[in-house]
Parts: sequence; C-alpha cells; structure tokens
Amino acid sequence: MDPSRRQFLKTAGVAAAAAAAGIVAKPLTAEANVHVEANPDRFGVLTDTTLCIGLNCRRCEIACAKENGNPPIDTPPEDESVFDHLRRTHENQFTVVNRYPNPHGADKHPIYVKKQCMHCDEPACSSACFVKALRKTKEGPVVYDASVCVGCRYCMVACPFDIPAYEYHNPTSPKVRKCTMCYATRTSLGRKPACVEACPKEVMTFGKRSDLIKLAYEKIQADPVRYERHLYGEHEVGGTSWMFLSGAPFEKIGLPEHLGDVGLPEYPRNYLSAAPLVMAIWPALWGGLYMFTKRRDELEKQEKEKGHETHDQEEK
Ligand code: SF4
Ligand code: SF4
Repeated sequence: MDPSRRQFLKTAGVAAAAAAAGIVAKPLTAEANVHVEANPDRFGVLTDTTLCIGLNCRRCEIACAKENGNPPIDTPPEDESVFDHLRRTHENQFTVVNRYPNPHGADKHPIYVKKQCMHCDEPACSSACFVKALRKTKEGPVVYDASVCVGCRYCMVACPFDIPAYEYHNPTSPKVRKCTMCYATRTSLGRKPACVEACPKEVMTFGKRSDLIKLAYEKIQADPVRYERHLYGEHEVGGTSWMFLSGAPFEKIGLPEHLGDVGLPEYPRNYLSAAPLVMAIWPALWGGLYMFTKRRDELEKQEKEKGHETHDQEEK
C-alpha cells in the first residue's frame, strides 16, 4: 500500500476512535447552514461592467492587496499581457480583473470584469462546511474563521464561482482564503470595501442590497441600449450580495447563466445524502482528526513548558 495512503488510514483510524470515544463535538450538518436569516438591510455591491477601464488601472486589485496584507500585484497595471489569459482569484489575491472580447463587434471596446467572492445569500461554501468555518453575516459578507477550519476543502468543491483558495504552500497552518468584502476592517462598520473606494471610475456602488437593486433597474430603464435587461446576482443561486450589470450576455463575460435561481446549499446536501456512509463518517473523521491534532499540540506545549521549568530549577 502507498505509504501516504497507509498513513492517512492510520490517522483516520485514530480519529474514528476518538470520535467513537465521544471527544468530538457534534458536527454541524449541511442542513444547519441552509436558509440564512436574511437581513433586508444587508449590504451589497453593484458592479457596472460597462464602466470599467481595466488596462492601466486595476486599482481595485492594488487596494485589495493592501487592505488584506497580501503581496502586491505581480504585474504592473500597464502590462497588457496580464489579460492574455483568464485569471482566477487565489490565496494571495482576492480579486482579479479579466478581459473579454466585445461580442457586439471586434471594433468595440473590450469588456473588463472584476471577479471576487459573490457573497451568496445561501452560500454553498458555508453549507458544505460542517464546522461552519464559513458563514453569512447579517451585514451581507460571507466570512471565514480559520480557528475552526479542519482543511477538508469541501467549500472549494461546493462554490459555483470557483472562489475559495487553499494555502497549499503553508505546511503548518494552511487556511482557506477569499474576499470577505473587507468585513473586519470596513463593512462591519458600514464603510465601503477598499476596492470600491479605490476605483476611479465608480464602477462599483456599495450600499443596501435593496437600494442597489432599485438603482440597477433605474440604470437599465434609463439606457436600455447600453445594458442587458438583467441584473446578475439578484436571483442567481438564491441571490448574491455582489451583483453585476453588463452590456453583453453574462455568459460571455465569465458569469455563468446556467446556475439557476435556487440556493446551491441543496447540492452539497443532495450529494451528501447520496453517500450516506460518507455523510455519517466523514465529519466524525475530520472532527476527530482536528481534536486529535489540537490535543497533541497542547501536550507538546505542556511538555515544552515543563522542560523550561526543570531547566530553570536546575540552573538555580
Ligand atoms: S479600479 Fe475600477 S476601473 Fe479600475 S480596473 Fe478596477 S473596477 Fe476597473
Ligand atoms: S461565491 Fe463561493 S465562496 Fe463566495 S459566498 Fe458564494 S459559495 Fe461561498
């Protein structure tokens, strides 16, 4: 047997034993995360993709990196080659701007679209997370608690927008990372996210989600030639806090239109119910593993402290 597989099964056995011994807190099921109590005054962001200039700008990316203490963006704003391929967000960059050809004609201005977490109203990531490390806040943003995360990465599989990223390079305490709509430093205090504030073209508007929906339809009505008659995110996957206006079909600018209007928490739940054994055992395994590692770290710490004390006494 492959040694890494053997090691995993061994560790899993320890975890299962720990679970059987009852040291695991009752795992939260997918069910517990579904149907978040929505606050009618929750915040959101409306992105008008017809206004974004993209090239020679990307100030939203720069501001995001600074606000989150991430490394500076790796290519300068004037570097056009960055648009040669579509980028996804990653553990050190929570927002990226991509470029799409204008479907109304090659002579028309290309379309630039900022991508980040959509802050779904019924987040599939949160629903898939049995320790509830990801949760929808009453203010709107979907946030993450690293202290309870066990690194199972179910959230990454569940997200329909391919957003959560994992710190694979971090061997000691890897975390899942993504945009939090600047919750801790800004939106929980009613302040706009850093990217919104930095944008010189006012592409994004921060405010109450209900006001943003009104604003979006006013814009569509005032200029029906400029805009698609659809507000992306109003209903998709049960509604999102980050919403988009576009002059081109959304499917052409990286926003999937096949996701439907039902909250995706249904999917992990259906998946899990199709695999009853996994559903019963997996949370216990990971929960057990987490408790096992935590206990081991505590014992190591105690041993170290004891060692220091003995050393101090010997010196006296
Ligand atoms: S800062 Fe605004 S205009 Fe500049 S790339 Fe970002 S969204 Fe587009
Ligand atoms: S876009 Fe993905 S990561 Fe963001 S809230 Fe929705 S499911 Fe979660």
